[in-house]
Amino acid sequence: MKKNIHPNYNQTTITCACGNVIETGSTKSNIRVEICSKCHPFFTGRQKLVDTGGRADRFNKRYGINQK
Ligand SMILES: [Zn+2]
Repeated sequence: MKKNIHPNYNQTTITCACGNVIETGSTKSNIRVEICSKCHPFFTGRQKLVDTGGRADRFNKRYGINQK
């Protein structure tokens, strides 16, 4: 029987720190990454949201909205 599989090249998964799992083919197995295309600020715009929240908080403090 002949196996038509390249040596050292398998289906594997890349696990990101955000929990996203990407299936891919690689010579390595069980790859772990800190950031992927799903959680990178450039793709998600999360950095933008964080920035907006900080600005709102500063606005409230400046104009004493938190005071009674
Ligand atoms: Zn990720």
